[in-house]
Amino acid sequence: MLSDDHVHLREGAVDRPGLLASLDAAGVDTAVILSLPPASFSDGPSADASQRLSNLESWCAGEPRLVPFYWIDPVEPDALDQAGLALRRGVRGFKVISNHFPLGDSRAMPVYRAIAAAGRPILFHSGILWDGRDSSRYCRPAEFEALLGVPNLRFALAHASWPWCDECLAVFGKLEQARSRRPDAPRMFIDITPGTPVIYRDELLRRVFTIGYDIADRLLWGSDCVVPGYDAAYVREWIDRDSGLIDSLALGRPVKEQLFDTNLRSFLTGS
Ligand SMILES: [Zn+2]
Repeated sequence: MLSDDHVHLREGAVDRPGLLASLDAAGVDTAVILSLPPASFSDGPSADASQRLSNLESWCAGEPRLVPFYWIDPVEPDALDQAGLALRRGVRGFKVISNHFPLGDSRAMPVYRAIAAAGRPILFHSGILWDGRDSSRYCRPAEFEALLGVPNLRFALAHASWPWCDECLAVFGKLEQARSRRPDAPRMFIDITPGTPVIYRDELLRRVFTIGYDIADRLLWGSDCVVPGYDAAYVREWIDRDSGLIDSLALGRPVKEQLFDTNLRSFLTGS
């Protein structure tokens, strides 16, 4: 069983059978599907919250292999209402890209807290952001220390924050230490979705698995593919490459099963 925790919807005809066939071709069982972006991330006109949720539902509703996440801009004036609406409509988690606001913006914190109170996770972009704008500064891992102010949140930093992977791991260590002081401190995951160019992959995997932190059950695997157009051959290539690199570390622990499968469940449910 393989999971892909990072798949973006884009505009296009809904073709669920086509997506499921592509997942089968990649050997992926379960995929987290991220809704169309909010206005702040769109170059053209953006659909409103209700339309974006309807689009998400038309892909995912009733199909347990497809896990719907709503991409929210937490500084939009009605963001709390959007979060409530998305929760009522059954989303399993949220996506946030802090492309135009500091992560701990006072408008965003109540939204994170509402999501945490509902027991749902947030997948954040982190690292360099390829959006054609002056934005990556908001996505540096240390910015995410602000989430210490969000009790019981489960969150993941995507792309292992490339190129700031060391900083990402250091923040993970800090958050874990905070949990030893305060049980309601947030629980951080690292989504190792590429991001990292191939030449950095060996180094990244070596560091995450040998740093000595209790991290193996907090790593998620994703492709960052878009739908429609899920590229099964590309996904398979990354799965095989990562799998081989992990084998070469000879860790002697079932880390691949955790990374590719079981960790997603604990990210989604907290169990
Ligand atoms: Zn992405």
